[in-house]
Amino acid sequence: MKYLSTRGAGPVTLDQALLQGIAPDGGLYIAARLPKFDGDDFHGCTDIKSTARVLLAPFFAESALLEDLDKIIDETFCFPIPVTELPEDAGYAGFLELYHGATAAFKDVGAGFLAASLSRLKRDPAQPLTILVATSGDTGGAVAAAFDGRPGMRVVVLFPEGRVSERQEKQLTCWSDNVLSISVAGSFDDCQALVKEALADADLQAQHRFSSANSINIGRLLPQTIYYAHSSLVHFNRTGRPASYIVPTGNLGNAFACIMARAMGLPIRKIVLATNANSLVTDYLGGAEWEPRISLRTLASAMDVGNPSNMERLRKLLGEAEVLSKTIGARTVSDQAIEQQIQKKFKEYGFAICPHTATATFAYEQLSAAERSENDWILVATAHPAKFEQIVEPLIGTSLPLPDALAAILSRPNHKITIEPDMAALGTALAQNVHDQSGPDR
Ligand SMILES: *Cc1c(COP(=O)(O)O)cnc(C)c1O
Repeated sequence: MKYLSTRGAGPVTLDQALLQGIAPDGGLYIAARLPKFDGDDFHGCTDIKSTARVLLAPFFAESALLEDLDKIIDETFCFPIPVTELPEDAGYAGFLELYHGATAAFKDVGAGFLAASLSRLKRDPAQPLTILVATSGDTGGAVAAAFDGRPGMRVVVLFPEGRVSERQEKQLTCWSDNVLSISVAGSFDDCQALVKEALADADLQAQHRFSSANSINIGRLLPQTIYYAHSSLVHFNRTGRPASYIVPTGNLGNAFACIMARAMGLPIRKIVLATNANSLVTDYLGGAEWEPRISLRTLASAMDVGNPSNMERLRKLLGEAEVLSKTIGARTVSDQAIEQQIQKKFKEYGFAICPHTATATFAYEQLSAAERSENDWILVATAHPAKFEQIVEPLIGTSLPLPDALAAILSRPNHKITIEPDMAALGTALAQNVHDQSGPDR
């Protein structure tokens, strides 16, 4: 299997695509040709790991990592991904619970897989690989957790000072010596600009061997196809019917994985994207121009994206808006609707959902009666509600128990450094910490 940039560069191997993150022409890597599967291919796949082995094998066909694929899968899917059973009258088949990993959100799957893969690629042990991430909260924690303590790998997380929640900051600053947490006196956009500039700086690149773990990396996408494949197969084997999904969407990484799974022949019928007030995707599918916007702050903050980068992959795979709108639905959900859904679902089911998941339950209610009854909907639950307790707890009037993984993170000591948002300050921070933090055996 070869990989091509959406803008034409390549072909490259999977290993090169994983290491580079973004293609040299600025495009995103996609598989040159998607493998096709039918039900027989997954015969006997009773657990998610066996589904993963079948699905990923063609993607790893020419990779140096092929012989390690089983281990990579074991490390990635080291937590359960169940579909919640709901009362008969709920209307939908259940929630796909993607929040049982180290930082209680679906990004743990992609980050875990990327860490397991990159740490196995052959390289000079004297020169560790430095993963640079800018984060507005969630991505950085998942990436830091996944690379924490891995020999020969160093993570540098940049986050905006004072603009992440207390619990999020804990998740960004509680890791071992190979994670450097930098609080930047600026905005998320400043953090992202610093990362982009550092990645493009030849001197820094030679000193630190940078790679990126943002959601543009194909290593974040591939493993996300697995939970769609497996849950749709389980549903199909039990009912004889395909599953349909509603996916809370920001940068379109999670949704793209679902669309990819369907394109590979998995039993998936409809796909609906739920966005927050950042409605570019919905508007585009409704006929508007694709014009990147400034992102708006909403309650579903991990979806506050004004320019979803994976749209470039989606158009390459399926086509422009006229084609896309025939095969994908989309709904925009306001903050008010998010709040109402959190309260309503708590009353109905007795458990809380996170603000991102609430966009999916609202989008479901917006479907026509026929659309609802003619499809078996699985709603994607992207984070544990206790991650967003400041929003959820006042709405439901009770406190939420912390999942064990989050409780463990919150009890660890924290360390960070603070810098001004300029390249000189970042260069100094990287140099000072490179020797005492990056030794392959620490
Ligand atoms: C990142 C994130 C999303 C959005 O996922 P994309 O792949 O960017 O569309 C939704 N919910 C949560 C909790 C997230 O962390």
